[in-house]
Amino acid sequence: MSQLSQEQIDLIASRVLHQLQAPVGQKNKSAPTLDVLSTPALGTGVFADINTATIAAKKAQLELMELSLKLRNQIIRNIRNKMFEHAEDLARRAIEETGFGRIEDKIVKNKLVTEKTPGIEVLEPKVRTGDHGLTLMELAPYGVIGAITPVTNPTSTIICNSIGMIAAGNAVVFNVHPSAKDVSIYNIELLNQTIVAAGGPLNLVTTIANPTIESAQELMQHPNVNLLVVTGGVGVVKAAMSSGKRAICAGPGNPPVVVDETADIEQAAKKIVQGASMDNNVICVDEKEVFVVESIADQLIAAFERYNAVVLKNHEIEQLDKVIFKETRGQRKPGVINPIYIGKNIQDILMKIGKQVENNVRLAIAPVDVGHPLIWTEQMLPVLPVARVPNVNQAIELAKEAEQGFRHTAIMYSKNLDNLSRMARVMNCSIFVKNGPSYAGIGHGGEGYASFTIASPTGEGLTNPRSFTRERRCVLVDHFRII
Ligand code: NAD
Repeated sequence: MSQLSQEQIDLIASRVLHQLQAPVGQKNKSAPTLDVLSTPALGTGVFADINTATIAAKKAQLELMELSLKLRNQIIRNIRNKMFEHAEDLARRAIEETGFGRIEDKIVKNKLVTEKTPGIEVLEPKVRTGDHGLTLMELAPYGVIGAITPVTNPTSTIICNSIGMIAAGNAVVFNVHPSAKDVSIYNIELLNQTIVAAGGPLNLVTTIANPTIESAQELMQHPNVNLLVVTGGVGVVKAAMSSGKRAICAGPGNPPVVVDETADIEQAAKKIVQGASMDNNVICVDEKEVFVVESIADQLIAAFERYNAVVLKNHEIEQLDKVIFKETRGQRKPGVINPIYIGKNIQDILMKIGKQVENNVRLAIAPVDVGHPLIWTEQMLPVLPVARVPNVNQAIELAKEAEQGFRHTAIMYSKNLDNLSRMARVMNCSIFVKNGPSYAGIGHGGEGYASFTIASPTGEGLTNPRSFTRERRCVLVDHFRII
């Protein structure tokens, strides 16, 4: 027999442990042997139904509570190492399964959350002392979290949520997007193997073999689930908010960009293309429409072509509308994008109107009127509408309207402090990026930590381990004010 790799040994160990922990009626008659390695459908942390997954997660969470913080920290470190090693593997599997996005950008996303999602260091307790003694405020886990993840960032969301939730002392049951099921399950198995190899409990991260919208709703109602964390569109947010449980909801956006007459035009053109084309525009923070002040509009539009973008002519936009929209509902209203084109490379989209562009082109710019449906739609494909407006105040008002109250993300290019601070106040978004691409707001090329669950509807903003905790107070009366 050939020698086993460390990974294979970890896998066998975790499955043996799994068998030992299974309820009596469910134990296999024979002990697991090496042949488990050739049956990848036997998932580590993967269960047939939501109920069993929550029971396993609950048990794992209680075990985690018995472990030291030092070991919890080691678990997080091991997760970071393993996910970094697998960043490309996970990116490739995600693209193969979903057909969304660009491999090089998905690798960046996986590495970003792996490195920059905060760990247990952000859970510092608060202490207050005074004449009446000492009060300690500590951050406690919820227990079992039910997490629902999107198809657009399948692995980056799972990695980010797992690091944050485990760092805070929770276990998690994922109901992943059915169209990203295989890569998500693979990711969850890797996480479990890594946690067990670090000395942590099995099933701290669980899922089910066949996730559906019905199983997501079952998870939302399950008595073993103490907190919901959902990342997706309006439907899942609405469902979670009406579940009766505490829910952290990360919903859709339609991030506008305003460019005023004081902006550095070259910088704006370059960075708008970088942001809007990131993973072919599927990320919720990606730039989705631009309002540019009339006096510099021609210069900005000409500059886009110097930075890997192609500017479309009117007749090409008309043709393209017929391709990318399944349905339009008139001026200033969101249309319905044909899902076939979501997250596709611009070359594949423009081919449908008989237009060929170089391989280095990442984005098409569509100069349109402000009422055009592309301005009002979260398109999630690399075609960026740009509308001219008479002045910056009107640009900001239109940006506010086009964002549709999601309060998610906004971007501005300007050197005028009054304009910048006016837009920040008017937009009132979880993320406002000035003079840089949207992704600087999630820690890529900007200061601050990373998150792929940006909870605007429920107000947490970029989630981190603190978001997944309850504050608990412990009071010692009349003692331990020692000075
Ligand atoms: P989606 O809403 O179609 O699906 C997201 C998840 O919710 C999936 O797992 C799906 O199975 C589940 N779901 C959908 N409707 C449900 C319902 N009624 N009940 C229970 N579960 C339901 O979204 P998607 O296409 O996977 O992702 C793209 C959307 O998510 C975009 O709108 C994007 O802006 C948003 N998003 C937001 C963030 C954020 O941090 N705010 C991050 C990523 C994606």
